[in-house]
Amino acid sequence: MTSSNSDGCAFCGRPWGVAHKSKEHVWPQWMRKHAGELPAQRSVTGVGFALDGDGRYFENIPEYSETRSASILHLVTREVCTSCNNGWMSGLEQQAKPLFLRLAHSAEAGAEVDISPSEAAILARWAQKTVITGELTGRPMNVALGPPWVSRPSMRRQLMDTPRPLRETSLWAARTSEDTGLYTAEVRLAIGDSPRYTPGETLRYSLLTAITFHRLTLLSYIPDTPRQGGGPPLALTTWTRLWPIQHDVSYPPMTLASHEDLKAALLEHHRWLPLSQHLGFRQGGAIAVPR
Ligand SMILES: [Zn+2]
Repeated sequence: MTSSNSDGCAFCGRPWGVAHKSKEHVWPQWMRKHAGELPAQRSVTGVGFALDGDGRYFENIPEYSETRSASILHLVTREVCTSCNNGWMSGLEQQAKPLFLRLAHSAEAGAEVDISPSEAAILARWAQKTVITGELTGRPMNVALGPPWVSRPSMRRQLMDTPRPLRETSLWAARTSEDTGLYTAEVRLAIGDSPRYTPGETLRYSLLTAITFHRLTLLSYIPDTPRQGGGPPLALTTWTRLWPIQHDVSYPPMTLASHEDLKAALLEHHRWLPLSQHLGFRQGGAIAVPR
């Protein structure tokens, strides 16, 4: 697995030596029990753009594709220390597990469930932990003067310290028309001040990530700085807004989501973030990878 060669735990920041590296599974172990049979292989594909060496132009990164000989449930990051893994992360898993499974069963059966704002906050924080841990298994962003990851150390620390989702984030849930097994698709967005990048300009970044578990898809939006639009304005007929909410919401939405709907939610960001470029699109699946 790619490592960022960090000096310490990605969340608490304690240096290696003081903190011990754990094998934090991106997909929690409890999912294994509920995932059913999955192939012992997974595929990973990626495509994207990066600023060139001078930081002036966006250039294409060649598409890569690889098959790894372990199921997606074994995806591990080594950027997390044992006390984070066994402490707050494990606690968050235990809180989120019954809520996630309630949504997954509802997606399977089509039966309506209600989610309260406090339950939604747990799901959103759990999704953010999963998304950020997942980002750290990928390749660092290749942006001159830019950060290696969309998730900054301060955001990870805040996620650890505060029992709330990160600020100005959003979380949506769809019920897909087909069971696509388990996969994630991650888009890293770079947002500038004008349609053309000006050298020296400070870009803002955000992570738009889909987590699919059979017929449940969660879509998480995490900006690295405030005021980046608050996330995609998705159609409420196909998507249930889980976070932020003020009152109970019911899932699933009226209409099933197709692959096209999922793809549009991830890749049609120009409609709500006109000055955005996607820096990378990475997806990995255990069964089917949407095209
Ligand atoms: Zn730690």
